[in-house]
Amino acid sequence: MHELAVAREIVGVAERHAGGLAVSVVRVKVGCLRQVVPEYLGFYFDVCARDTCCGGAELEWERTPSLLRCSACGAEWDPAPPPAHADHELLVDFRCPGCRGGNHSVISGDELVVESIEVEEPAADPGRETAAANEPGGG
Ligand SMILES: [Zn+2]
Repeated sequence: MHELAVAREIVGVAERHAGGLAVSVVRVKVGCLRQVVPEYLGFYFDVCARDTCCGGAELEWERTPSLLRCSACGAEWDPAPPPAHADHELLVDFRCPGCRGGNHSVISGDELVVESIEVEEPAADPGRETAAANEPGGG
């Protein structure tokens, strides 16, 4: 249920930024090293957002590239280059391509951030438009 916790966090962040307005789109960036299944994340996002200002919002997300640095020789490499068959399974090579060392630090790739949100325009009230047209003009 890892995705549930992540989805809950995303909804929480979006709510704080929305300032009480209805959220239409939430964009997140998920590092390649995060073991998150997109379909599950979308499902749990809908569940968590249901009773919030994010209800009905669309979850857009993109993978951010990963980068590791070898502790031995300092080489940097992307352990999960975008494969042609990019699916749920990621082929990640954590060994340094230079010296084949196994010690490394993660520079990027394990982050999960809410990149931006889109909110409904506060003035836009679809129900009022037609009503306004029927109002008698000042005359
Ligand atoms: Zn190395």
